[in-house]
Amino acid sequence: MELESLYQQIILDHYKRKVGYGIDHGGYPSHQYNPTCGDEINLQVLLSADGNTIESIEWEGTGCSISQASASMLAAESKGMTLAEFETFAGGFREAMRSRGEIVLDEEEYGDLASLSGVSKFVARVKCAMLAWVAAEDSVTLTRGSLN
Ligand code: ZN
Repeated sequence: MELESLYQQIILDHYKRKVGYGIDHGGYPSHQYNPTCGDEINLQVLLSADGNTIESIEWEGTGCSISQASASMLAAESKGMTLAEFETFAGGFREAMRSRGEIVLDEEEYGDLASLSGVSKFVARVKCAMLAWVAAEDSVTLTRGSLN
């Protein structure tokens, strides 16, 4: 199988399987909307009691396969990360998405998310891929604000 179609398959698998789908716990969800494409995501990051580690990510949404698959992959890959690790992780993902095809995400580090690397060539779709991440960062800010 060619790499591109393999990547498309991974994206479609996440679009169907949706890791972390369903907001089942009390938290601080962030709602994000992408008017360009019509994608909508409501996502919350659940932190450990000390507020330093991501226990899980829960989300619900509608929209294109890239937006929904990105949320599913984010939920799958970021589980158990410290917030410091997540900040670096999200920074690297954002940098790749804004690179217009220059930066390819490392599969070792980004797992299934590496399949979204090609999205950066399509400027109009970058917002689709970033939507869940913006929601996650916002939810972390809201959650940590509640702990202080
Ligand atoms: Zn979209």
